[in-house]
Amino acid sequence: MPKSNLKIENQVVRSSGRPPVVVVLGHIDHGKTSLLDYIRKTRVAAKEEGGITQRIGAYQVEAGEKKITFIDTPGHEAFSQMRQRGARVADLAILVVAANDGVKPQTVEAIAHAKAAGVPLVVALNKIDLASPQDAAKVKGQLAKEGVLVEGQGGKVPVVPVSAKTGEGVPELLEMIGLVSDLLELKEEAGAPLEAVVIESLLSPQQGPLATVLVKKGTLRVGETVSAGEVGGKVKALIDDRGRRVLEAGPGMPVQVLGFNAPPPVGAVVTRSLGGLEVKKETSVAQLPSSSDSQAKGLNVILRADTQGSLEAVAAALEKIRTGEKGINLLLKGVGPIGDADVRLASATGGVILGFNVSVGPSARKLADDLGVGVRSFPVIYGLLEAAEKLVSGARVLEEEEKAPEAEVLATFTLHSGDLVAGVRVLSGRIKYRDRVRVIREGEEVHQGKVRGLKIGKEEVPEVRTGQEAGVLVKPGFAFRKGDRIVVS
Ligand code: GDP
Repeated sequence: MPKSNLKIENQVVRSSGRPPVVVVLGHIDHGKTSLLDYIRKTRVAAKEEGGITQRIGAYQVEAGEKKITFIDTPGHEAFSQMRQRGARVADLAILVVAANDGVKPQTVEAIAHAKAAGVPLVVALNKIDLASPQDAAKVKGQLAKEGVLVEGQGGKVPVVPVSAKTGEGVPELLEMIGLVSDLLELKEEAGAPLEAVVIESLLSPQQGPLATVLVKKGTLRVGETVSAGEVGGKVKALIDDRGRRVLEAGPGMPVQVLGFNAPPPVGAVVTRSLGGLEVKKETSVAQLPSSSDSQAKGLNVILRADTQGSLEAVAAALEKIRTGEKGINLLLKGVGPIGDADVRLASATGGVILGFNVSVGPSARKLADDLGVGVRSFPVIYGLLEAAEKLVSGARVLEEEEKAPEAEVLATFTLHSGDLVAGVRVLSGRIKYRDRVRVIREGEEVHQGKVRGLKIGKEEVPEVRTGQEAGVLVKPGFAFRKGDRIVVS
């Protein structure tokens, strides 16, 4: 560690710096829990009397000369939130990929979270006991496709084959974590102002509000007045991951705090209060630096498209957009409708969700409204690119712009005159007589014209609205097909 650490007052300075905080990410069933349990069992319990350790949401292990703090992501409830929180408080992420299953959607999401938080990855190629010899190379290839270039594939991301079942490779994994964290030069700023993050909180019937916090900087001590978000309190007791009462917790250490007036929100930053005055107040998860840091470099975008082909095309076009220093930081791209996980990722990273020819699930739409996340699906590529360009230039188009009125063709009818009329349902907005429209088929614009007739039932009407069914006559005429989209331009 740099000598400058010696300046820290009243502290014993260890040469190894602060222990890295590590989060384990990856697809469900790939072995995250098993790996965390294995490490805990072999590295913690063995040394403790009775072998019982307290579950407080994080634990510290000794690996050689070093200490490593693991965030012990439990179960799978509130999974995305857990991972977002994990990636944020962590210095390093272990990406668990089951060798026999390969890269899966949540693997891709995990990569995006780590990328957004600017956290380096170590890949744990798990279930090596079940894998065939070809599996490792296959997974490495899949990871490369997701932008994770591993050692031996032109990149630097380490891959360690492990088995959370037999323990094979786990010592090597811990060693690798040590090596990677050395490169991060984490400073043990025990004398700095306190900065800790709430990673668990609950109301215990016996003990009252309990919170597990992870100290990142400074030292948390019994007797201090602290606040976390809106919640204040006085630290009555601190309990470490082995159930022992301690008087203080320094950088890298997880500790359970007794004394908050209520369970503080997960993700809140704990700071010390002086004489009732808060030294620093940072409450919202969205205000933590990682999201604004990555935002400063460009626009964080989550992209969804209807087919793999269109996805690649739109992604390639998006990556070319630049305004000065700013460009697009494509956090995640995938085929299929826009879902809740996309909204959470966008919210965590201050990003937006752009869709091409995909639907936005109703619960995702609601979540986006609640979290204030910009989400929009476009029927044509150029509309999407135009919006992206405006956003990169600083506009807030997604929030302000209304969705272009759009109707879906359900059937076609031929009039006595020979004109073909489209029987449509309006999906969004209003379509008016004389509106200029474009006809979109499978994402491609196939016709342009003007609305020259609108009927609901037998009656001529000046406009039709969302949810209504109508007959639309467009001139010049066009051979509509069921499934075509009519979009007002
Ligand atoms: P998580 O959803 O990622 O936390 O996955 P779990 O840790 O719950 O593991 C899912 C399943 O895979 C469980 O049945 C584990 O026993 C099994 N498993 C995990 N790691 C290994 C491994 O390295 N080898 C084998 N054979 N099974 C494993």
